[in-house]
Order: sequence, then structure tokens, then C-alpha cells
Amino acid sequence: MTVNVLFSASPALWPVYEPLLTNGLTEAGVDFRLGTDFEPDQVDYVVYAPNGGLQDFTPYTRLKAVLSLWAGVEKIADNDSLTVPLARMVDHGLTQGMTEWVVGHVLRYHLGMDQHITVQNGNWTPDAPPLATERQVCVLGLGALGKATAHALAALNFNVTGWSRSAKDIAGIACLHGEDGLRAALAEAEIVVLLLPDTPATVNTLNSETLALLPKGACIINPGRGPLIDDDALLTALNSGQVGHATLDVFRVEPLPAEHAYWAHPNVTVTPHIASETRPVTAAQVICENIRRGEAGEPFLHLVNRDLGY
Ligand code: NDP
Repeated sequence: MTVNVLFSASPALWPVYEPLLTNGLTEAGVDFRLGTDFEPDQVDYVVYAPNGGLQDFTPYTRLKAVLSLWAGVEKIADNDSLTVPLARMVDHGLTQGMTEWVVGHVLRYHLGMDQHITVQNGNWTPDAPPLATERQVCVLGLGALGKATAHALAALNFNVTGWSRSAKDIAGIACLHGEDGLRAALAEAEIVVLLLPDTPATVNTLNSETLALLPKGACIINPGRGPLIDDDALLTALNSGQVGHATLDVFRVEPLPAEHAYWAHPNVTVTPHIASETRPVTAAQVICENIRRGEAGEPFLHLVNRDLGY
């Protein structure tokens, strides 16, 4: 039977994904129709991103699964009208991009790149940076992105501690979990990377209490989601020097409003949610594989636990 695949994401992406999904589904041997406009009760799979505008899944009575193009699913995970499986995006290209972005920003802090630019102004302070073996980096979140990032940092010889909800055993990474684990991880962290999802349990993971646990002058890199950090607490910690610098890619409100204190703060770097993005070529392969699996009666990849919100 022909399966109908609705593409419900930014219209600008349709010309990019249409040939990729067509090729992938054809190669997967799926009998399909692909489009941006079906009668809701005729749709079998939705390829989804929030900017496609679809919010009410009630009329989608034949739906088998929603396949998110985004890794973060906080905008759909609690949608009560969605009663079929929801898969999120785990994409090699997205992961590689995030790894590169985080490693770059960790190295900026580690090597003191900003300070040494002042050499151009005649400031000759010949202090070589420490080695990575002498630097403690903490990655909050050890999922698809956090684990790959932690591995990349460990491969550069950083001392990497990772923190997750469940206990883990990852070679080369000191893995901690739970509230005590967070406290222990932050107490030593000179650089903190946030790669947690936005869920009710992760809101304000960094707040006045947890920021106070950090060694004075620690740096923060947040490519996860804005609500992971209590913004007022971070600004207070930046102003007191408890936090030395923060690189923030994600915010509670995006685009970050022009009047937000982060824009003007000398110890904050704002980037416009570009740490990484879903890469169409590799992401389309993931979507097609999940549709193939659905039609073959095999379990879907990367299912979201709706109770946990990620
Ligand atoms: P995953 O779901 O694979 O991993 C999430 C990790 O967070 C897991 O290790 C999980 O623990 C941990 N976690 C979840 N809840 C808690 C909690 N309450 N306490 C401690 N740890 C917790 O997600 P990804 O790695 O694929 O992505 C992470 C986030 O990155 C996305 O949700 C998204 O918000 C963000 N992102 C940002 C992008 C950008 O450009 N800025 C691009 C893409 C994603 P456990 O392993 O035990 O389940």
C-alpha cells in the first residue's frame, strides 16, 4: 500500500529535502507519495519541524509516526494531540558540526585566545597556556551530541567529566549522574559545556546555587537550550567574576532581543543559534530509514520518551 509522507517544516527546506527523500525512499523500496499538502486523514508519516506550523495532530487519524528534523523536541514532546511515536533527529552531520563548534570554543578559552590578541596592542606577557591535560572540562548531557563532544575533547587530552540523567560508563570520560554528580562535576569544572535537552527537569540547571559551585572564573558554553541557564543568576555571576566568560548560542527568546543584557556584556559572546544544524543529506537518510522500519514492522530509531521530554 502507498504511504503518504507529509513534509511539514520550513517551506524553504522543501526543495532541498524533496529530492533527497525521494531518492532515499525509492532506494529503501518504499511505495510512497511525498508532498507538502495531503488531506490529514491520508497521512502516514509527518516529517516535522516546528516552523512547518503543524500543531494539531487530531485530524491525522492514519498517522504512524512523526519524524522530527530537529534534535531538540521541546516544542512537540508535550503535544497532547500527538498519540503516535515521535522520533527525533540524530544525524552524523549535525553531531560533527556540534563537535567542531564546541571544540573550537573550548580551545578559545583554554588557549586564552582573547587575551593574546592584545599582543597586537603591545602587551607582552609571555605566559604559555597550560596543556589540555591540565584543564578540566565538564559536559552536561552525554547523549548523541554530548558524548561525541566529550570524546573529541578527551582525544585532545582534556580531562573530561560528563553528567547525565542515568549512570554511564564511557571510556576516557569520568561519568557522573544525579544531583550529587552535578555538584561534583561543577566543583572542578573550568569550562562547562551544556548539551542537555530542554525539559521540565533541566530548566535552570545552572542557577545561583550551582554557578556558585564552579571554580572562580570558570567559563560556560551553552549550545543546548536557553532555559538550561537562569539568566539573572548568570549575569550576577559574570558581574562578580564567579563566571569568567560565557558563550551562548541559545536563548529563552530567539532572536535574542536587542535590549538583552547579554548583547552588551563584555564577558559574553552571543552566537545566533548556529552551533550546528541538521544536515539534509545525512538527515534524509535517517528519515528514510525510519519510514522503511515503520513499513517493515521494525522498531523506530531515536524515539522520544514523551514522559521525560527528550
Ligand atoms: P540526547 O537526547 O541524545 O541527549 C540528552 C542528554 O541529556 C542525555 O545524556 C541525557 O541523559 C541528558 N539528560 C536529560 N535530562 C537530564 C537530566 N534531568 N539530568 C541530567 N541529564 C539529563 O540529545 P542530543 O545530544 O542529541 O541533543 C542535546 C540538545 O542539544 C538537544 O536537545 C537540543 O536542545 C540541543 N541542540 C542544539 C543545537 C544548536 O545548534 N544549538 C543543534 C542541535 C541540538 P541520559 O543519557 O541518561 O538519557
